[in-house]
Amino acid sequence: MTNEMDNCFIDRIPSEARLRRGRAAVCLCPGQDKCGLCVGACGFGAIAKTERVPKVDHDECIACGACVRACPFGNMRLVDFTKGEDTAELQLKIPKLLVKNGLEGLTDGDRIRLFSACAEESEDAESRADSEVLQAHYLDGGELSLRIRTDKANAFIPFRV
Ligand code: SF4
Ligand code: SF4
Repeated sequence: MTNEMDNCFIDRIPSEARLRRGRAAVCLCPGQDKCGLCVGACGFGAIAKTERVPKVDHDECIACGACVRACPFGNMRLVDFTKGEDTAELQLKIPKLLVKNGLEGLTDGDRIRLFSACAEESEDAESRADSEVLQAHYLDGGELSLRIRTDKANAFIPFRV
């Protein structure tokens, strides 16, 4: 059950009803990066800039992916819970700096280990963030656009590599 997940960003998780409808954007912005690029990138008015972090209106989000592409820090992702009983598909953008730290040359079908950026969760995540690369696409700016299949428990964890 989604809302029972141990997660430091639990308040950003879409409702179970919304997740059953298909892909949804999730914002894992830590709060200090209030650049607002994701807000401007959303052509559907689904992201509001707040005092703290951007807030996604999951009912308005059509999962176009523009906010994922716009975020320079990889803090936005698309989450799809409809592809498997226990697994989710995530669409991520990995920043150039992290790509240089060992993600060069990744190809479709590879396995990848992503570690939680939530300090209190790191041990847990290390054992469960082994994921399958469904699509790896290197962008002109050196970032990596990544679609992965992973356990649903990993879907709302901010990753480091
Ligand atoms: S995925 Fe598209 S519609 Fe949804 S919040 Fe991001 S930019 Fe807006
Ligand atoms: S673009 Fe990324 S870093 Fe900037 S406010 Fe949005 S989620 Fe945060």
